[in-house]
Amino acid sequence: SQLAYYRDTWAEINLEHISYNIEEMKRHIGEGVKVFAVVKANAYGHGDEEVAKEALNSGASYLAVAFLDEALALRRKGIEAPILVLGICRPEDVRIAAENRISLTVFQQKWLSEAKEILPSNARLDLHVKLDTGMGRLGVRSKDELNGLEAIIKGDSRFYLEGVYTHFATADELDFTYFEGQMERFQEMISWFEARPEFIHTGNSAAALIHPETHHNAVRMGISMYGLTPSPEIEPDLPFRLKPAFSLHTKLVHVKKIKKGERVSYGATYEAAEDEWIGTLPIGYADGWIRKLQGQEVLVEGRRVPIVGRICMDQCMVKLPAELPIGTVVTLIGTQGDEYISVNEVAEKLHTINYEITCMVAGRIPRVYK
Ligand code: PLP
Repeated sequence: SQLAYYRDTWAEINLEHISYNIEEMKRHIGEGVKVFAVVKANAYGHGDEEVAKEALNSGASYLAVAFLDEALALRRKGIEAPILVLGICRPEDVRIAAENRISLTVFQQKWLSEAKEILPSNARLDLHVKLDTGMGRLGVRSKDELNGLEAIIKGDSRFYLEGVYTHFATADELDFTYFEGQMERFQEMISWFEARPEFIHTGNSAAALIHPETHHNAVRMGISMYGLTPSPEIEPDLPFRLKPAFSLHTKLVHVKKIKKGERVSYGATYEAAEDEWIGTLPIGYADGWIRKLQGQEVLVEGRRVPIVGRICMDQCMVKLPAELPIGTVVTLIGTQGDEYISVNEVAEKLHTINYEITCMVAGRIPRVYK
């Protein structure tokens, strides 16, 4: 149910590609390994509800988000599938998590003791224990901590130990040394459990794609579900082609000829070297198309043209090869004819990673699904 919108800028999300990426991943990891679809941060900017539904229809078994709020938002949108919160949740919020059948990540004994005080007597809370094998972010690091944690969970019938997992710091790099250290540590740490939980999961996209030994019985698939490569380094080693789901488009809303020497935008920094056609686009830094993207190319009629002058809050200007009609589609990310601007190209321009690009496209840009 797409709401109406009244602005000529939109992100187009290709759900078929999301479905394809999941199906290929499932083929790659094989029977018996489940896919947790990582839909945190509004599904990396793609839209949590639509992606979650597509992922579940395409064979994902579980959803994963960063915060309880994101899990509750999915419940409000009618999604019934199991959801794991990967980040930390406040102990005082366990009641609402249990009421909504949301699984939580746990790794602190004090947290469990506090949660025990808050959970109603008939509640049931599913827990995944997080092990810190080298990411240095969240998780149990010692045997004593783990044994203590397991004892508290086993000693309270409201808690159910459903999973154990860890997260890799370098799975997307070609030097496997640190990664292998984390794997070894994980094997050691899971041997400390009295009884192993149902779900054992370590792999993010990179590990799931290039390190089959990490599959255990589930992988947490984020960036690759969206058809983006975890890092340029592992691109040549991908076991199947990823199909990007995200593209970004706008339209020319104004076109004019400026004379040689005339200037464009704040600071009047751009000066026409000759008489030039300039187009105005209704997208700016408040949409996530940040000022550092000045000079980045966009596609118009299948050709690359540069953004000229400073990017404004809601608009920016491009240099056109000729007079073009108002309403001409301009592609900022995606394909026109034989030309293609990838999320990776924009990431490179900003000296960052592709993950950041789709996440930074602001909520005020409508997402359109096909
Ligand atoms: N697991 C955890 C704990 C994460 O934080 C993330 C995302 O950062 C993922 C899995 C998914 O990683 P990726 O997007 O590289 O597949």
